[in-house]
Amino acid sequence: MEGSAAWGALGPELPPLVDHHCHGVLREAPGPAGFEALLSESDRPAARGTTYFDTQAGFAVRRWCPPLLGLPAHCPPEDYLARRRELGEPETRRRLLRATGIGTYLVDTGLPGVLTGPRETADAGGGSGLEIVRLERLAERLAAEVMRGAGGASPAEAGPGASGEGAGGTRSGRGASREARRVPSGEVVPGAPGPVAGEGTGGAWPVRGAPREAVSRQGASEEAVSRPGTPRDAVSRHGASGKAVSRPGASGEAAEVWTARIAEAVREAAGSAAGFKSVAAYRHGLALAPDPPDRGEVTAAAARWLASGGRRLTDPVLLRHLLWLAVATGRPLQLHTGFGDPDLRLHQADPALVTDFLRATADTGTDVILLHGYPYHRHAAYLASVFPHAYADVGLAVSHTGPRAEEVLAEFLELAPFGKLLFSTDAHGLPERYVIGAALFRTALGGVLSGWVRSGAWSAADAGRVGALIAAGNARRVYGLGED
Ligand SMILES: [Zn+2]
Repeated sequence: MEGSAAWGALGPELPPLVDHHCHGVLREAPGPAGFEALLSESDRPAARGTTYFDTQAGFAVRRWCPPLLGLPAHCPPEDYLARRRELGEPETRRRLLRATGIGTYLVDTGLPGVLTGPRETADAGGGSGLEIVRLERLAERLAAEVMRGAGGASPAEAGPGASGEGAGGTRSGRGASREARRVPSGEVVPGAPGPVAGEGTGGAWPVRGAPREAVSRQGASEEAVSRPGTPRDAVSRHGASGKAVSRPGASGEAAEVWTARIAEAVREAAGSAAGFKSVAAYRHGLALAPDPPDRGEVTAAAARWLASGGRRLTDPVLLRHLLWLAVATGRPLQLHTGFGDPDLRLHQADPALVTDFLRATADTGTDVILLHGYPYHRHAAYLASVFPHAYADVGLAVSHTGPRAEEVLAEFLELAPFGKLLFSTDAHGLPERYVIGAALFRTALGGVLSGWVRSGAWSAADAGRVGALIAAGNARRVYGLGED
C-alpha cells in the first residue's frame, strides 16, 4: 500500500495480514447513495443536510483510497466516485484489495445480498479465502428447506466439508467448493444441509459432532459434563419428563427433522470452514443462559419456531443450541459483541454478558473470539486476559475511529495478552472498507508500538514480534492456518 513511510517503523515489516472477520463486496458498482450508505453501520440514509462522508470512515476512505486509483488524497467524493465508475467495479476492486497487504480472508458469508464469496474476494486481492459459517443463517436456511419439504442436498453439494479438505488447510483451492454453493440470486450461502442420516435424531445432540478430544476435555469440566450427556440418555431423560420430544403434529415432526439437519450441517461445515459465527447479540442479546439446552427444550423451541414460519431466529433456546453445536466441533467460534447496525441494543451486546458462557466453555477445547467489542472493547480485552480460550478482535473498532484508532488499539493492549488480539477489517460491500481497515490498523499499530519503543517501555524486537502476532500470527494459530 502506498504511503507506508507514514505508518511508523512497524508497518512495512508486517507479514501478510490475516483478515479473520470480513464479508464479501458488491459485484456491481453501487450508486452514490449506495456507496455512502456503506460507509455507515446504519441501515438508513444520513440525516437531512448531512452525509456519511463526514465521518471518520468517510474521511479515511478519502485519505487512503484516491491515491490507489490515481487521484490525490482527500479529493472530493464526487471525483472519487467518478474515477471508480471510469475504472469499473472489477478493476476498482482489484486495485483496492491488492493494496491492503491482506493475504488471507476469512469471510463470514452470512450477510444477505449479492456479494463476492470467499474465493472470489481472495482472488481479487491476490490471497486465499476461507469461509466462516454464520450459525443463525444456516439454521434459517435449513428451516426454509424443512418447511418446503425439500430433500437434503447430496453430499457432493453439501457445502462445508463436502470437499473433504481438512480444516487446517489454507490455500484458495478450498474456496472452490464454497463458491459452487451460490444460490440463483447470486448469494453465497453457508453450508447446505447434509442428508438426514437415518432419522438419527440422536444426531441433534451437540456432543455428537465433537472431536474426541474436545468431548473428553469437556467431560473434565463440571460445568459442561452434566448437560450434554449422550443422545440416548438425553432422549430417555426427556421422554420420562414428558417434555415436548414426542410432541405430535406436523411442527413436531418438522422440528425433529430440522434438529437432526442442523446438527449434521454444523458438523459437516466444521470439516472445511475456518470457523463459525453467531449473531445472537442481534437476535436476543448476549444475556443467554450459559449452558446447553436439553433435548426436550430444543425440540419444543424448534416446533414453536417452525410453526410460526421459521423465519428470523430469535429464540434464546435455539440460539444457545447453535452455540453449543458449534462449540462441540472444536472450530473457533466468533461472537458478535459491541456496536453494529441499529438492529442491535447496544447494552445487550456487552461482551461481559458472555462471562458465564466463557466459564462454561473453558474446558471444551474450543476458542471463542469476541468480535468488534467497541465501546466495550476493554471488557473484551479483560475477558481475553482471564479466559485462555477467549480472544478479542480489534477490527471494527479501529476502522470506524479514524485517527483515534491509535488510542482504541492502545486500550485493547492495556489488559489483553498480546497473543489474544486479532486483526480484521469487518469490511462489507465496498472494497474501500478493506483498504481503510488495513490502513488504519497499520497506522494505529505503528503509532502505538513505535511510541512505546521510543519511550523505552518496549524493545523494538518485541514490538515487531507483537505487531506480527496481532496482524497475522494469532489468527494463524487460532484458526489452524499453518505457516504463511
Ligand atoms: Zn461483520
